[in-house]
Amino acid sequence: MNRIELDSNYCCGCSACANVCANGAITIKEGERGFLLPFIDEDKCVGCGLCKKVCDFKKVGQMDNNTLHAYSLVHSDEDTLKNSTSGGAFTALSDVVLKFGGKIVGALMEDDFSIHHVITDDSFLRNKMRGSKYVQSDMSDIYTSIKDTLNSGCKVLFIGTPCQCAAVKSFFALKSENLYVVDFLCHGVPNNKMFKEHINFLEEQYGKKIVGFSFRDKRYGWGSYNSINFNADGTIDARWINRAYCNFFLANLSLRDSCYNCKYRSLYRPSDITIADFWGIEKLAKKYNHAGVSMVLTHSDKGEELLNQVKSQCEIVEYPLDRVVYRMNDKPVTRPNRYAAFWDIYKVEGYSALVKKFFDNSFKSRARHEIRKIAKLLRLC
Ligand SMILES: Cc1cc2nc3c(=O)[nH]c(=O)nc-3n(C[C@H](O)[C@H](O)[C@H](O)COP(=O)(O)OP(=O)(O)OC[C@H]3O[C@@H](n4cnc5c(N)ncnc54)[C@H](O)[C@@H]3O)c2cc1C
Repeated sequence: MNRIELDSNYCCGCSACANVCANGAITIKEGERGFLLPFIDEDKCVGCGLCKKVCDFKKVGQMDNNTLHAYSLVHSDEDTLKNSTSGGAFTALSDVVLKFGGKIVGALMEDDFSIHHVITDDSFLRNKMRGSKYVQSDMSDIYTSIKDTLNSGCKVLFIGTPCQCAAVKSFFALKSENLYVVDFLCHGVPNNKMFKEHINFLEEQYGKKIVGFSFRDKRYGWGSYNSINFNADGTIDARWINRAYCNFFLANLSLRDSCYNCKYRSLYRPSDITIADFWGIEKLAKKYNHAGVSMVLTHSDKGEELLNQVKSQCEIVEYPLDRVVYRMNDKPVTRPNRYAAFWDIYKVEGYSALVKKFFDNSFKSRARHEIRKIAKLLRLC
C-alpha cells in the first residue's frame, strides 16, 4: 500500500501529507494524548503515494549542507534584545526579508493560547511571533499561503523546528529559490492540549483570568526558564508552580513520540540557517552580553548571504566549528523511566494530578533552584 503508515514514532505532525493530497483524504487532528496526527479517509485515498513521497521524516541519507560556519550574534537594538528569547537572530534575519518585500512565516500564540504558524509582511505581527513557545505549532493551514507567496515571486523566510523545516523544504523542493529556511536547536515539543490545560490549572490556582504567557521572560535574566503569566487585571504572576509545564518539557516527559526518534539532531540540518541559545558562551568569550546571545550556524551560501546582510544591526563574531560542536546533540532525547507512568496518570487523572505527582514542589528543590540562580549571578559579576 502506498499511503503513509500511522506510526506516531515516525510522524512529526508537520501536515505536509495532508497538504499534498489532492483528494482531501488526510486530515490533521489531535490524537488521544493531544499530539497532531494525520487521519486517513480510506474512501478518498486513491493510493497515489504522494503523501509518502513528501514525508521527510522517513527519508534516509545525509543532508546536503555545503557551507558550515558558526557565529555568535547579539542584536544592537536593546528593545529587540529584551523581547527576543536569545540574541535576537530571528528579528535580524526576518528584517532583511521584510525589507525586500518578502513575507515571514513563524509561530504565533493566539488569545486562546493556540499556537500555529502564520504568514505576514507586517513587522508588528512579526514581532508578535517572537518568544520561544514550548508547544508544537500547528502548520496545517500554512502551506497554501507559502505556495501563493512563492508563486508571486516574493521571498519567504520560514522558521520552525527542524522537522517542520524539513517538511517545508521537501514540500517546496521545486520552488526553493526564494525560500529561506531557519530552524533552531530543538529540545522537542509538547502539545497544545497540555499547554492549555496548564493555563486552566494556573487560573484555578490564582483565581484570575490569564490573558498571556511567556515561557522565558527576560526580566529574570537570559537563561531563566521562569515562566510568567499575564492576568486580565493587569498583574503578572511568576510563581514556582508556573514552572511545572516547562519542567515536564525539560525532563523529556511531555514530548511527542517522534522527538525520541528525531533524525535532525546533528550538525547537518534541513535549513539554510540554524539559531539557538548560545549556552556556554562565557567559556568562549571573555565579554558577552548578559541580555542574551544567539548561536547562528549557516548551512548554505544562501544562509551565509542572508547573515551577511544583518551585520550592520548586530554584533557578530565567528567561531571555529570545533569550538561550538559541543552545542550540537547527535542523538535524540531519551524517554525517561517515568514516561509511561506520566502519560497513564494524565489519561486517567488529568493535568493537575501530573503537577501533584511529577512536579517537585519541595522546599529542597526551590532552594536548589535559588542557589543555582545566585551562583550564576555571582559568576557573571
Ligand atoms: C520548542 C522549542 C525548543 C527549543 N529547544 C532549544 C534547545 O534545546 N537549545 C537551544 O539552544 N535552543 C532551543 N530553542 C531555540 C531558542 O529557544 C530560541 O527560540 C532561538 O535561539 C531563537 O532566539 P531569538 O532570540 O532569535 O528568538 P525570538 O525572537 O524569540 O524568536 C523565536 C522564533 O521561534 C519561533 N518559534 C517559537 N516557538 C515556536 C514553536 N513552538 N514552533 C515553531 N517555531 C517557534 C518564532 O516564530 C520565532 O520566529 C528551542 C525553541 C523552541 C520553540
